[in-house]
Amino acid sequence: MSYVDEIYERVVSQNPGEPEFHQAVKEVLDSLRLVIDANEEKYRKAGILERFVEPERIISFRVPWVDDNGKVQVNKGYRVQFNSAIGSYKGGLRFHPSVNQSILKFLGFEQTLKNSLTGLPMGGGKGGSNFDPKGKSDREVMAFCQSFMTELYRHIGKDTDIPAGDIGVGGREVGYLFGQYKRITGLYEGVLTGKGLTFGGSLARTQATGYGLVYILDEMLKHNGKELAGRTVLVSGSGNVAIYATEKAQQLGAKVVALSDSNGYIYDKDGIQLDVVKEIKEVRRGRIKDYVDAVPTAVYTEGKGIWTIPCDIALPCATQNELNLEDARTLLANGCFAVAEGANMPSTLEATELFVEKKILFMPGKAANAGGVATSGLEQSQNALRMSWSFEEVDEKLHTIMVNIFAKAADAAERYGVAGNYVAGANIAGFEKVVEAMLGQGIV
Ligand code: GLU
Repeated sequence: MSYVDEIYERVVSQNPGEPEFHQAVKEVLDSLRLVIDANEEKYRKAGILERFVEPERIISFRVPWVDDNGKVQVNKGYRVQFNSAIGSYKGGLRFHPSVNQSILKFLGFEQTLKNSLTGLPMGGGKGGSNFDPKGKSDREVMAFCQSFMTELYRHIGKDTDIPAGDIGVGGREVGYLFGQYKRITGLYEGVLTGKGLTFGGSLARTQATGYGLVYILDEMLKHNGKELAGRTVLVSGSGNVAIYATEKAQQLGAKVVALSDSNGYIYDKDGIQLDVVKEIKEVRRGRIKDYVDAVPTAVYTEGKGIWTIPCDIALPCATQNELNLEDARTLLANGCFAVAEGANMPSTLEATELFVEKKILFMPGKAANAGGVATSGLEQSQNALRMSWSFEEVDEKLHTIMVNIFAKAADAAERYGVAGNYVAGANIAGFEKVVEAMLGQGIV
């Protein structure tokens, strides 16, 4: 049996009940076959794949807090410290009812490769809780964050593990977490990224994931003789990534006609009015259906049908497995020729395989959404320097990083004879750096 198949079987049997983790490992290992086969003896001797798929450490803990009715609530808390070969653990915290160990392991695994692609010295980690911030008061969110950090603080630090935001964790939550870390440890240090601008946050971090997504999309289009201006674009989700992907796509002349949330989607044939969306999502923390109250010519539809709207380009920016095989077929039948993933693993394995097989321009999440964590890396640099850079300076660096990620993915794909397959290219380029560092550091 090949080394890849052997390791995949091992992952499935040793990690029962973790389908998302199996899926992420399978997608990566399948596209690394050529590299692994070429280096099989060396990798086997060093147990590279056995180590690569096993998190260095998983911390799991109880998070008790008191709700506004005086009732004690208990949530699960986790931090998965996946791989520190190229730097201290780095990755977001997700607060969402779906969070479990499988999801955080898949995210930590992906993060390791994503962070490697940025070219910055960051290892991979991820954490979070099954706490649902939706509908909670500010005081409840603060109580939860303080309790979460009261356990987490002992496992993190500016040179060991640096969490940030993800789904359900934005500026408000990072602020409460930072405050509690500082209170317990007495340290004013860059232990979290995505901080407020008055306490060590970086300009352009809020916009970074969405802007970065569109920068790499633009680069991929240009490289293939196409342009973004004038294209019709679907963006799923309506959180931080979706909002700033829409903003940048519009700045570059594209027409974004749809956004969604977990209840349904809006279609605005005239192009989304982003100021309305920002007011609903960033100020009122409302639902996307409220958009049609302000823009009556737009249509709101309950359910998952966003991918049935005809488009040139699709940017899935909501969550894992939001775009399945049927959605992929519908997009292709409607003439969609480019997909770039703003979320982590939003396309199912079958959908990804179809995009690759049909040779559309497809940029996987670990490359396409790396702008967020890359700018977190820039926030760490600014904290270490005790300086802050201008918006333009950070944005320029982000742009350069995204262009470089595209080049790395394109180059690796070409080197292994699968030019244009950016799934393989991103996985190979990310893997090569991590493996070289692991080999160089011995059996640890
Ligand atoms: N949660 C984001 C990601 O998936 C950002 C992580 C970070 O900034 O550390 O990459």
